[in-house]
Amino acid sequence: MTFKEYIGGIFQGIRSLLKGMRVTNHYFFSPGEIVTQKYPENRAQLQMFERFKGEVIMPHNEKNEHRCTGCGICEISCPNGSIEVITKTIITEDGKKKKAIDKHIYHLSMCTFCGLCVKNCPSNALAFGQEFEHAVYDRSKLTKVLNKEGSTLMKEVE
Ligand code: SF4
Ligand code: SF4
Repeated sequence: MTFKEYIGGIFQGIRSLLKGMRVTNHYFFSPGEIVTQKYPENRAQLQMFERFKGEVIMPHNEKNEHRCTGCGICEISCPNGSIEVITKTIITEDGKKKKAIDKHIYHLSMCTFCGLCVKNCPSNALAFGQEFEHAVYDRSKLTKVLNKEGSTLMKEVE
């Protein structure tokens, strides 16, 4: 290798390094365009993106009503047994017996966030929440009852 080729190789290496660092340098010298977030300092304002799957939840309205009929399809759909649906029999206003949800149990520690339960629920009773801080010392705290105490089925859901 000649001296000229040697020097040329060094310059080629520097050019290649600068090219590779172009994006990094851009953000380094443009602090107004920072895309990373200061977590946990920003915890109060932090909004995860819409499709984020933090945990399975059962939305309730302001009257403490949900859309779960207790059909059990989510339990059957779950590939790893993360859901247990416990039902009870209630008497309706017109005196008929009807199946209703007693406890909708969700084992977050086993959930792989595949989304099958949410997708397969015929009454759209489940959704994904945005909570992601699930660290606990006691594993049993990762087992949750999704239907709130005293909640009932929304009237329009059959
Ligand atoms: S959450 Fe949906 S699929 Fe699961 S038991 Fe309730 S209504 Fe059925
Ligand atoms: S998201 Fe998937 S793994 Fe988690 S409870 Fe639903 S079906 Fe089961």
